[in-house]
Amino acid sequence: MEKEYICIACPIGCHLKLHVGADKSLEVSGNKCKRGEVYAITEFSEPTRVVTATCRLGLENLERLPVKTTKPILKDHINPLLKEIYSLKLEAPIRRGQTIIKNFMNTGVDVVATRSAG
Ligand code: SF4
Repeated sequence: MEKEYICIACPIGCHLKLHVGADKSLEVSGNKCKRGEVYAITEFSEPTRVVTATCRLGLENLERLPVKTTKPILKDHINPLLKEIYSLKLEAPIRRGQTIIKNFMNTGVDVVATRSAG
């Protein structure tokens, strides 16, 4: 099996090919450096993303507050995380960097406010 990725670890954007052998061995080509190999293997075996979203706040001048995860989170955890974020109603005042959700699903990832409000 072969998968293709574009490395996002730097602006060059190498086109990567990941070959998965019958014995489950992984071989990466197209990368100009080691980071591309790590990127392709991580994308294949445990893809993660930094999640950005907004939480209900309900201020007259700011209905929703932008938030983001402190680290990339496994793609499988994104939907449950968004469900939790969208179920919250925050109370002002909130300062930038304040933790909104601590250690989501014991992943060690927090969700923090990306701006202050109130
Ligand atoms: S493989 Fe290396 S050079 Fe290519 S985009 Fe990724 S980080 Fe940049």
